[in-house]
This record gives sequence, C-alpha cells and structure tokens, in this order.
Amino acid sequence: MPTTIPAPLPRPFLLACPDLSAERLGNTDTPGVWHFDSGVQGKHVMLSALVHGNELCGAWALKEALAAKLLPRRGSLTLAFCNLAAFDRFDSANYAPARFVDEDMNRVWSDDKLALPISQERRRAAEILPWLQQADWLLDFHSMSNSDVPLQLTGMEQRNIDLALALGNPATIIADAGHAAGVRMRDYGRFGESGDNGTRSLLIECGFHGAPEARGVAVDQMARFLVEAGTVDRNDIPADWFTPGAPIQRALRVTHAVAAKSADFRFAEPWKGLETLPAAGTIIGWSEGEPVTTPYDNCVLIMPSTANLRAGVTVVRLAQPIV
Ligand SMILES: [Zn+2]
Repeated sequence: MPTTIPAPLPRPFLLACPDLSAERLGNTDTPGVWHFDSGVQGKHVMLSALVHGNELCGAWALKEALAAKLLPRRGSLTLAFCNLAAFDRFDSANYAPARFVDEDMNRVWSDDKLALPISQERRRAAEILPWLQQADWLLDFHSMSNSDVPLQLTGMEQRNIDLALALGNPATIIADAGHAAGVRMRDYGRFGESGDNGTRSLLIECGFHGAPEARGVAVDQMARFLVEAGTVDRNDIPADWFTPGAPIQRALRVTHAVAAKSADFRFAEPWKGLETLPAAGTIIGWSEGEPVTTPYDNCVLIMPSTANLRAGVTVVRLAQPIV
C-alpha cells in the first residue's frame, strides 16, 4: 500500500514585496514596460519579470536596474513587469493565488490563444507582444514553489544551452520542451525556431519564491546576461551584482513530463528536486492510485510540485545528463 505523506506546511515567505508604484508606470505607451535605445547597433534585449505575479525576484532585479539608471551601450534594452494585475493580489501569508488572475500567463504565447482575448493574462500578453517580437535576446525571471536550487531552463536548442554555459551561473541547466498546456514566453515565435536564427531565450528559476536569496540570483543572472549580450560592459555594472560563478555546470535534458490525471496525485517521498534515482522502475508517486515510475536508470527529478495540482498539470519532469 502507498504510504501517506502529510501535506507539507506552507514555507514562510521571507522575500520582501517590492514597491513598484513608480516602476509600474514604464516609459512607453505600455504600462509596466521600459525601453531604452542606445542609438548604436546591437541586440534588442528584453528582461521580463512577474509573468507569474507571486515570483518577486525578477521584479527586484528590474527595480535595481532602474534605480542604478543602467542604460544600454549597444542595441536596446526592454524591461517588462508583466502580470501586474496578479502581482496586485500578492499576500505573503497566502502567496499562491497571486500566480495569475484567470490563467497561467506562461502558457498563452501562441497566436491562436492571443487572438482570443478571453482572460486577463491574454489581454496583458497582447500588450507586451510587440516588445517580445522585436527582442533578439530574452531573459525571463521566475521562481519555484519547492526547490531552492536555481535552474536555468533553456529549451531544447543548443544555442540556448551554449549561452547558459557561457553565463557561468547557475550550476544546473535544464533543456526542456516546455508544457503541453501552452507555449511559454521563452518559446514564442522566433525563440522557438530550431537552428541558430540569432535569437536567445532563457528562463531562470531563481529558487524558492519566498527566499531572499532568489533576489541575488536574479541580479547576478541579469548582470551576466547583459554583459554577454554586449548591452553593457562589465564595468558598467555594480561589482556587487555579480556572485561567484558555479565551480561546475551540468546540463540535463528533460525526457518526460509527468502530468496529473486529476487532483488525486501524490508523491512517494517529499521530493525537493534534482534527486537522482539510480534504478529504473523506482516509484515516484501515484496518480489516481496507479504507480508512476522512473523509465530509466539514473533518472533526475526536476521541479516536483503539487502546488497547482489539477488534471493535466505537470507535477514533475524527468531528465538525464546531456553527454
Ligand atoms: Zn514562474
């Protein structure tokens, strides 16, 4: 018989909520969007935060960039505070509902969904879309409901895996194909094309939503990304934005996404993520009472979470090292 795992207590949310009263205005016709053009040839770089309204680390990073009056030396820089309507619901004592208002904003980035503005998130995504379409390089800031270990989600394209390695942080790189439930911002349009079309897009999971450390991870990632893009020179960036690079980076390729058949899903252990299960056939959990097992030896669990549990939601992804 499966053992019963008691529901974990919500972790305390210790990361302060940023005051965005000035930042949410933006300096463009799109509220919450800032755009700076150097007038010099270079990449169009976009940094996006708050695609999920309760993921505050990226908002802190963009706020810091604005406070430092960081301007591009080459190309242009767009800073986007995305789901402000969801962010406005944020409550540190009950932070899950601020993820979105009507639907997950990181599943709506396809032309068919954006053509049907039936949700707050789709209408807001349509406002942001022109900025995304002109971006060559995108860094999208997120955080996680469970794991403390920062993860760089690159998608499957080698050009983005190579960029993640060039940045030097974080230690763990996950090449994943996204979600069956809808297209992520980082996979939209040209970003989702195969081969090297000059675009780059990364989704950085900076750690647990409520961990103060997630803010530092976001700022370090922003600094490294802007230098690598050539938007600024390293000396343009305050030295304390950089944290030491990872001693070793490892890249894992996601092979399976395990979706819950219904809300009746539970894990066999309180997985934290990045566990390597040595033997194929190890039970990960139960979906409607049916065991879910590892399909191969040395299977790595990626972002196990039952925080948003319902039919069709990905509860864990399975990965193996890229050799
Ligand atoms: Zn997120």
